[in-house]
Parts: sequence; C-alpha cells; structure tokens
Amino acid sequence: MRHSGWLKLYRNSKSFNNAQYEQDIYQQFNIGTVQMDSVQLRSFEPGLKEIYAQGILINDALSVASPGALVQAYAAEFKRRGGEFKQLKISHIQKRPSGWMVASQSAAENTSPIYCQQLVVAAGPWSKQLISQLKMRLPMLFERGGHREYVSAGAQALSVPIHDIDGSFVASPIANGLRISCGVELNSRSAGHSNTQLDLVEHSARQALNFADSASSQWQGARPTMPDSMPLIGATKQPGLWLNTGHQHIGFSTGPASAELLANLMVGDNHDLTTNCFAPSRFNL
Ligand SMILES: Cc1cc2nc3c(=O)[nH]c(=O)nc-3n(C[C@H](O)[C@H](O)[C@H](O)COP(=O)(O)OP(=O)(O)OC[C@H]3O[C@@H](n4cnc5c(N)ncnc54)[C@H](O)[C@@H]3O)c2cc1C
Repeated sequence: MRHSGWLKLYRNSKSFNNAQYEQDIYQQFNIGTVQMDSVQLRSFEPGLKEIYAQGILINDALSVASPGALVQAYAAEFKRRGGEFKQLKISHIQKRPSGWMVASQSAAENTSPIYCQQLVVAAGPWSKQLISQLKMRLPMLFERGGHREYVSAGAQALSVPIHDIDGSFVASPIANGLRISCGVELNSRSAGHSNTQLDLVEHSARQALNFADSASSQWQGARPTMPDSMPLIGATKQPGLWLNTGHQHIGFSTGPASAELLANLMVGDNHDLTTNCFAPSRFNL
C-alpha cells in the first residue's frame, strides 16, 4: 500500500466550482487536501499534459501498486493466523436442523458437502443468484465496468492515481505500468462485455498522458450494488445465515473493514448503532 494521495483533476474552472460540495465535505470531516492550479500541477505531476485548470490532492488516500498481490498477502496472513481455505463451487445451500450445509453438484468437484452452524454468503455479484434458492430476493444491481493496463517502457507516466472529472476516467500507476478504468454500465451480471466506455476513456486519457500504444491486458467485471448504495452486512431472518455483500465499486477498499464488522456482529461484540444502516433487514432479508 502506498501513502500516495489521490489527485482529482478539473479541465476548467466551471467543473471545479461544481465540485464545491465535495470540498465542503472534505472540510467537514477534516480530510487533508491541497488545492493546485495549473502551474502547481505541472511541477507536482510532470507527466500530465497541460490540460488541467485545477486539481485537488487528497493527502490521506492510500493506493496499491498491485491489487492481486495485496489480496494474496491478506490470504497468507489469514493462513498464518490459523485460517483454512476450502475451495468449492457451491450450487446447493440447505438449512439443516443443526445449521447449514453447502455442496457442489459439479461432477468435476469430488468434494464432500460442508456442514456448519453459521454460514456467511459473501459471494460479491454472485450472492444474488446463490441465495435465491432459499427464496430470498436480493434487490442487487450490477455496475459493469473494466480497466486496461499498459506496460511502461521507461519512466512511469504518473506518481499518484488521478481522477479526471471531465474526462471521466481514473488512471493509476501500477507495478509495471499504468491502469485506466472507466465508469459504470448498469446491466445484468452476465451481459456481454462492451468496449464502448473503455475506448472512450482511453481516448480521454491520451489527452492527458503519454502511455503505450496498445494495452497489455483488459479486464471487465460486475460490481455488486444495492439500491441505497450501502453494503449488506449482518444477520438475515434465517438463523445462522449472514450476508456480507453489495460493496459496489469500493469493495476492494472497504472489504476488510466489513469483514471485521461482521466478525464482531457474529460474536455479539458490536454495539455500534451505525451497523444498523447495513442490516439486511432493511430489504426484508
Ligand atoms: C472493473 C472493476 C473495478 C473495480 N475497482 C475498484 C477499486 O478501484 N476500488 C475498490 O475498492 N473496489 C473496486 N472494485 C469493486 C470490488 O471489486 C468489489 O466491490 C469487491 O470485489 C467485492 O468483494 P467481495 O469479496 O464482496 O466479492 P468478490 O471479490 O466478487 O468475491 C466473490 C467471490 O465469491 C466467489 N464465488 C461466487 N460464486 C460462488 C459459488 N457458487 N461458490 C463458491 N464461490 C463463489 C467468486 O469466485 C469470488 O471469488 C472494482 C470492481 C470492478 C468490476
């Protein structure tokens, strides 16, 4: 993890002024920011072309150079503390007298069912379908989107992640290059992938930065989103069945805190009323 900060960029003063409400929020919550004009931006981030009128650096934001490596580090730490992984593509969830059973029907998976007293469904965008067999209706929507990566031949194009408000893209320096990502497309989880948004943001990003002519990789996925933009963390009406899902486009960042919150709820060690706003009961689950 890098203490890099996060730089929001505005191509003209109108869009900067339109974001005044965000600056009010930073102030209200004592979030450290530095405002920069075009000259200061040039010296702070020399890789940027001169298309920006204003920028705001959010000092306290962290970023990661390799999300995959971070998740592997979490997994290694979990094992080091005595955790155990069992991998199974779950097709069946059944209520049993003493708890729950999960099982796979896949012929390829010669694995016995797993029995447990407490079951947490934390299957991201797949959670909706997975619990539908329990007659539970998750009003989950899917924010489709993706990113492209470009290997840097020489110096990195950027030193901090940027969010170009008018160009509608995010660009982040990663381990061996640059990653750009686009906004969201509300669609079904399994809808075919479209390159339209990624093509548009690649065009915008080239107005701001120099980077390799062609992408080394592209990835698309579905972000699990609830109608009120809040995750589902907590007990359901079914005894012993818990949910931890619906983290929309920020679950990579908020997932660890959600897991801690859920663990505290499960051992009855959480009296923080703010967790009520994440309760599955708000959707009658
Ligand atoms: C393009 C894109 C960019 C994103 N960028 C960011 C970002 O910059 N910052 C950020 O914080 N978040 C980002 N996110 C969002 C983030 O990825 C999600 O919010 C997060 O992954 C949710 O975590 P999760 O553990 O709940 O679900 P997931 O990470 O989706 O994990 C669910 C797991 O359940 C498994 N699973 C599903 N069905 C079954 C089954 N039947 N049996 C067994 N296992 C099953 C899946 O294989 C998967 O491993 C992005 C998402 C996308 C798609």
